[in-house]
Parts: sequence; C-alpha cells; structure tokens
Amino acid sequence: MSNIVAIVGRPNVGKSTLFNRLLERREAIVDSTAGVTRDRHYGKSDWNGVEFTVIDTGGYEVNTEDIFQEEITKQVQLAIDEATSIIFMLSVDEGLTDTDQEIFEMLRRSGKKVYIVVNKVDSATLEVAATEFYSLGIEKYYTMSSATGSGTGELLDDVVADFPTLDYKDPFEGLPRITIAGRPNVGKSTLTNALLDHERNIVTDIAGTTRDSIETLYNKFGHEFVLVDTAGMRRKAKVSEDLEFYSVMRSVRAIENSDVVIIMVDATQGWESQDMNIFGIAQKNRKGIVILVNKWDLVEDKKTNTMRDFEQGIKDKIGQFTDIPVLFVSALTKQRILKAVDTAMEVYKNRQKKIKTSKLNEVMLPVFENNPPPALKGKYIKIKYCVQLGTPSPQFVFFCNLPQYVKEPYKRYAENQLRKHFGFTGVPIEVYFRQK
Ligand code: GDP
Ligand code: GDP
Repeated sequence: MSNIVAIVGRPNVGKSTLFNRLLERREAIVDSTAGVTRDRHYGKSDWNGVEFTVIDTGGYEVNTEDIFQEEITKQVQLAIDEATSIIFMLSVDEGLTDTDQEIFEMLRRSGKKVYIVVNKVDSATLEVAATEFYSLGIEKYYTMSSATGSGTGELLDDVVADFPTLDYKDPFEGLPRITIAGRPNVGKSTLTNALLDHERNIVTDIAGTTRDSIETLYNKFGHEFVLVDTAGMRRKAKVSEDLEFYSVMRSVRAIENSDVVIIMVDATQGWESQDMNIFGIAQKNRKGIVILVNKWDLVEDKKTNTMRDFEQGIKDKIGQFTDIPVLFVSALTKQRILKAVDTAMEVYKNRQKKIKTSKLNEVMLPVFENNPPPALKGKYIKIKYCVQLGTPSPQFVFFCNLPQYVKEPYKRYAENQLRKHFGFTGVPIEVYFRQK
C-alpha cells in the first residue's frame, strides 16, 4: 500500500504535464509491458526511493460553466477524501483567479497536507510575478515549470519527507484478499450480499483518509479469504458517484491492497473505458484478475455463440494479457457465483505459484532450444538458465549472452510458454532477459 498524491487545480494550469512527468521516469523502468493501454489518470512514481501513487484529478471533459464548477468541487473533494497529500497547482500566466480562491478555501478547510505550486514559472522574471500568490495568505509556495521539470525536485523532496507512515494493521494478516471492483450499478453490492449473507463486516480505518474500507471474512465451502467491498466505500463517501471516473479512482487503494481483483461488468452494457481503467490499475499492480459479466439473466435470446462472442469482444479490447477467466453470472439469481469464488481462488493460487528452478530449466531450456530468438546482426542468442524471482506476483529472469537483442515478440513467446506449461491464468507475468 502506498501513499496517494493528488494533483488538483483548474484546467490548463499544467496538471497533466506534471502528472506525465512524474510517471514517465518510472514507466521507462518498470512498465515493460508494451502495447498496454494506459489509463491517463493514475500511475505509480517514486522519489528518493519512496514509492507513491499519483492521481491526476483533472481527467474529465468540461462542457458548460455549470458542470465546470461542479466538477472542480468533485475533483477537490475526491482529493480530500482519497489522498495523503494534495498538490494544488496554480499558473503564473493567468495569475490568481476566483476559481483558484474557491479551491484553496476547500482545501484549507479540509486540514489535509496541501502543497501550493505555482506553475509555468519558466524564467527568473516570472519568479517575481509569482509573489502575487502570497495574497492567498500563505507562507510558502513552490514555483515550478512542469514543462521543463525545474522545481519538481524541491517539491517532491518535501512531499515524500512529509508522508505519514502507513501503520495500517491488517486484522486478516496473511489471508487472501479479493476486491470486487466495477462501475456503479454493475451489481457489486448484490454480489457481496449474495456471497456473505449475514456475515459480520469489519470496518477498517485507512490511514490518511476520511474513509473506511469494508472488509469481510468469507469462510465457506472450503475457502477462506477477505472480501473487500468497494461499493460500501462509495456509500460512505461525500462525493456522489454519478461520474464514473471517481468510482474508478476510489477503488485504487482497495485494488493496490488486494491479491485478486474481480472486475464486474454489466452484460447489458459491455466493456467500456472505465472497465479498462480498472483493468489497467489491476494489471499495473500485477494483481490477479477475474472478469465477471453480471446480469446474464437479462440477456435474452442467448445463442450458442453469445458467451464466446462477448468474451472475445472483451479480450479484443484489453490488449495482450488475455489469459484471464471470464465468467457469466447473475448476482441476483446467484447463478454461478460460487464458481466465481472458486475461480478467484484459483487465480490467487496461480499468483502465489513458485516454480522450482530445476523444473523451470528442465521445461523451458528445450523450448528455447527448439525455437531460439532470431539471430541479430549475425549473432546468436543463447538462453542458458532461468529462475523465478521471490516476488509476490510471478516474475522470471532468463539469463542469456545477448539480452539486448531479445525483442518484444520473443518476450511474449517466453511468457506464453510459461503460461502454457505452468498455468498462470488470471495473473500478469513479468519476464526479464539478463546477461549471465
Ligand atoms: P491541465 O489542464 O491542468 O492538466 O494542464 P495541461 O498539463 O494540459 O497543460 C495546459 C497547457 O499548459 C499545455 O499547453 C501545456 O503545454 C502548458 N504548460 C504546462 N506546464 C507548463 C509550464 O511549466 N510552462 C509553460 N510555459 N507551459 C506549460
Ligand atoms: P453496485 O453499484 O455495483 O453495487 O450495484 P448494485 O449491487 O447496487 O446493483 C445495481 C442494480 O442492479 C440493482 O438494482 C440490482 O438489483 C441490479 N442487479 C445486480 N445484479 C443483478 C443481476 O445479476 N441481474 C439483474 N437482473 N439485476 C441485477
């Protein structure tokens, strides 16, 4: 679990520019999965070795003035509810506006840790212009040019140094954690209730937020795990949930803190961009994934191919990682919901799976010998040895003579062979090629 930094401010001050800057350094290092659709509002970054989550709250379309005000309020409230630290961004080129003042008022009353950043200070002359912002009655602001990156270091030094220690005590230490995520009204609560009947909910404080997460022990039919209810979070939140972006962002912490994410979609609506966002967050955090197509009872005229076509429709959209179980359920009639639990637990086991080094080499080395990476510039690549790392989700290192010559398609091939021989359904896998 990591601290969450939210960037707020009115449109065009430069929030996305900073957001992308914070992410790009890290994505270059960590995000080796090429071709993955990236969600634009969420990402991981780190500074001085401290990892944190960044949310760009400005990710919405603004059409009319009315919506504009309402959106700003929601955006700021989301940050107040969810984030450990808030970067409030202003822009020197437009100076202090009424909207800035209103946002500042909300933030000030919240008691949250707020960093006031004056952006677009691209030159020394503008440093002088920035002094205008002292009229907010503040003692300190940071100046920055998010376009060039100047000033970001000073800000991040402070943000990271001020992070609270997340002394989160998990009452269910060691048990699998499964989160049900999805857009509003897909049926998350209905499923949770159907699974849990009258079991006791345990409400756990999450450090640094005004919000609780509802976690319930599920201990039936041979399974024991903690079910995390993100629908419950919604009801407690101050922000109304009519905008789907917010519901996705709300699930971030729950997803980060779980082993398997059940992504629920509505059979009558199909897979949409918000589902993709949730998927992206789960995948980026290397969580196990199960997709439940709910309200299957409402689909009339089911033909032999209906399920297959629906599943293919989803898989065509989610990118390269498609070895994921897709189940068709009805939370209302309880059709196949126990199957869904079984599947989630299988995915959990797949994610925990550790392949013995001897077995791994015995299986994979012949695979590579029979179909070696294509030679490059007349040089042959020889894979000599492989190991699985001791990481929480499966990661493999293949040692070879010329790792820099191993291209993406061959990495995919290696991953698919691992999946074929060892079974990692529902689990993102990382493969690395390294010099021996
Ligand atoms: P957002 O709406 O707050 O996310 O703002 P964007 O990040 O989309 O930036 C709005 C515009 O300001 C874009 O044209 C950026 O190129 C520009 N911009 C962002 N940061 C800077 C900066 O530090 N200096 C200057 N001169 N322009 C910037
Ligand atoms: P949440 O916002 O994701 O928690 O969704 P809810 O569980 O509150 O469900 C939203 C609505 O969909 C409610 O009216 C439910 O009764 C209905 N619903 C949920 N699951 C099913 C289902 O499998 N079939 C049908 N027909 N309706 C469902």
